[in-house]
Amino acid sequence: MKLYYCYLDDATVGRLQGEPSWPLNWRATDKSDKADALLVDLDRPPSWLAECRRTRPTVPVIFVTDADHAGRLEFGLSDVDPTQLNKLLKGVESIADALAQIPNTVRETIAGDPYLAMAAYLWTRERRAKLELDRHSSGGYRYACEGAVPRAREVLINMAHAGYLGREVSEAAHCCPSCDSLQVLLRDTCIQCASVNIREETLLHHFSCSHQGHESAFLQSSGDYVCPKCRQTLRHFGMDYDKPGSIVSCSSCGHQSAETQIRGRCLTCDKRFDIEQSPRQALYDYVLNEVGVHALFRGRFTTAALTDILEPKRGLISPEVMAMMVSKFAAVEKRYGIDSALLKIEFDQNAEIAQNGSLEQRVKLITAVGQELARLRTTDSVAYHLGQLLILLPGCNEQGLNRIISDFETIVRDMFGDETVAALRFSKHSIQDPLPLAA
Ligand SMILES: [Zn+2]
Ligand SMILES: [Zn+2]
Ligand SMILES: [Zn+2]
Repeated sequence: MKLYYCYLDDATVGRLQGEPSWPLNWRATDKSDKADALLVDLDRPPSWLAECRRTRPTVPVIFVTDADHAGRLEFGLSDVDPTQLNKLLKGVESIADALAQIPNTVRETIAGDPYLAMAAYLWTRERRAKLELDRHSSGGYRYACEGAVPRAREVLINMAHAGYLGREVSEAAHCCPSCDSLQVLLRDTCIQCASVNIREETLLHHFSCSHQGHESAFLQSSGDYVCPKCRQTLRHFGMDYDKPGSIVSCSSCGHQSAETQIRGRCLTCDKRFDIEQSPRQALYDYVLNEVGVHALFRGRFTTAALTDILEPKRGLISPEVMAMMVSKFAAVEKRYGIDSALLKIEFDQNAEIAQNGSLEQRVKLITAVGQELARLRTTDSVAYHLGQLLILLPGCNEQGLNRIISDFETIVRDMFGDETVAALRFSKHSIQDPLPLAA
């Protein structure tokens, strides 16, 4: 039986109004740095807790608190019902198990790198950062990882941009343009004076005298309609009169219009704003993808996710090594007349897929390129530098080079269509020239 350990101190036990129930395979310990879970009083957290979470961001912290609060936490134990501890501990076993899968050498470095900390956190939480609406949290929502990883929201966004996380739309909102809160009132207002004091009124049209006005002006206490202009009683809808629509009247400025305008008011900072100032914004769940898992297990995150996708498919050499090899093959070319070619592939950051493509699409494109690279001969070498791939093809003539380019273009065209082919810019270079790499 695998044993797990839960940190417990006397102060926490004192808070509980009853005896906590333990699963058979869990033991209490007073060694917080070795524990698989920490059980602490939310109102009186031990002084070392913040430092402990910083060094072990994945460790599940079960906070003992009042029943109301308990449900809002990732792991909350109501002080009046400690029997729930059993269930909570069973639930966090998978976190300890997932953490144990991460290589030791990586585990030791997690605390120093927010990207690693976030990836490890997500890895132990079924890979997902789930958006929870919460009026007590900044902006009106929260992610559980915010308690564990510093600057968590920023880290999530950066990692998604770098291709380590996938995004799934969880909610959409018109957030406050001033404080970003999603807790806003959105309502119809007068297009003239922005007043919310408006009312919609049905229009009535009297055929015989052509008078048109508000229904309320026709309506008598008896329930009959009498035309305010000609004093005739209107009897039959469609014969005497009809209702051509409605109109909005503003009680503040008297403006009448068929239209209203949606305006917002922030419940957090009281800012009033036009809906145009707050375009519809998607709020996301983030999911650690294969690229992210790969980077986590190697213990290395860079903002150039590209190399992380390419590397497993085709070993990359550094630009320095590439420069050395090019000069050697340039000498061979000169002395023995054996031609070599240098191909540069640039990922055009202005291309449609780079600007508007989803992360999945971009990762798919780079993966496709990686697959083509993997098909090259073992004598070929590939280097990556700032969005550019350099491929050294010893003994390759013009014809061979053109075929390689056309193979790349074909696979990209088949997967994404013509437009995306432009996202990859190919250029041929002589190996007698300096390396065509941007600084
Ligand atoms: Zn009339
Ligand atoms: Zn008005
Ligand atoms: Zn606001």
